[in-house]
Amino acid sequence: AEKGKIGIIGSGLIGQSWAMLFASARYNVTIYDINLELVNTACEKIKTELKMMEKNGILRGNITAEQQIDLIKGVTNLEEVVEGTILIQECIPEVLSLKQQLYDQIDKIVGSQTIISSSTSTFLPSALSEKMEHRNQLIVSHPVNPPYFVPLVEIVPSEWTEDWVIKKTRAIMEEIKQSPVTLAKEVPGFALNRIQYAILNECWHLVNDGVLNVKDVDTVMSEGLGMRYAFLGPLETAHLNAEGFVNYTERYSNSMYGVCQQFKPSPKFEGPLVKEIGDQLNSNTPLEDLPKRRLWRDQSLIKLSQLKKYN
Ligand code: NAD
Repeated sequence: AEKGKIGIIGSGLIGQSWAMLFASARYNVTIYDINLELVNTACEKIKTELKMMEKNGILRGNITAEQQIDLIKGVTNLEEVVEGTILIQECIPEVLSLKQQLYDQIDKIVGSQTIISSSTSTFLPSALSEKMEHRNQLIVSHPVNPPYFVPLVEIVPSEWTEDWVIKKTRAIMEEIKQSPVTLAKEVPGFALNRIQYAILNECWHLVNDGVLNVKDVDTVMSEGLGMRYAFLGPLETAHLNAEGFVNYTERYSNSMYGVCQQFKPSPKFEGPLVKEIGDQLNSNTPLEDLPKRRLWRDQSLIKLSQLKKYN
């Protein structure tokens, strides 16, 4: 059966991933960017990627790569991507004025039934939409890189986002087999970055206080906490580490509180330690090796996602 239309604005890394995810669930996808060349390059990259996924048995959805490619179409005017669209996924660079400018244009042509969904990592939906006439249709759907293999989507409504927009966005994310969480209200950093920053803060302090070097701090996560966190969150981890969470607090809350009392205020991530951490990271992974290391990371994530059976 004919599914509706999804519009992708911005055909970079994230826009391409979204296009592939929506096509895997049989949506008709239009991709828009500031010029034809960018749109065409993105479509070519998507084609290659989808075929490669199919060849390696990691294609998502239950139609062929060719069928998915046929569902994706590049366009070069904004009307074409906005008109009659169920959901617009905005994926342009993380610059507030750029995004606001685009939303101003969309605002003038969008109908009342279209969801305007932003991929922003840092801007609150209220900041993106406050001046819009259609502000009650805007929501944030924040993906995690690489979205094709990391399924979390943080759905963040502003206080004026309408309920149907929140519910329908979530339903669509579930339909394309991502794993959405819906924040009840907008908070800076959403949830993922708040947790990530708490971890980074403590990593900084452990190095700064001379407790561990950079490599060993990362080992604590990659060979320890991270092994569990790929399957269980910290809360369920606690639940299993005692006879349930209540018992966990009975056993450990005092010692936990004692340790946490020693936590230092948020560092500013500036000064000589920045260079020191950079140097230590470079000595294991020199800057020229970053592409190679990213490829290894993505291949590892593919294996992990197969273990977790996403596709
Ligand atoms: P990118 O630079 O790879 O792609 C951005 C694309 O938008 C470019 O192709 C650019 O030409 C196009 N563009 C610029 N202005 C435009 C306009 N007015 N209309 C249409 N297209 C326009 O960026 P990206 O890494 O794909 O990130 C896109 C968004 O996704 C950002 O908001 C970013 O914060 C968010 N995000 C990125 C990641 C990540 O890891 N890269 C993760 C989660 C969320």
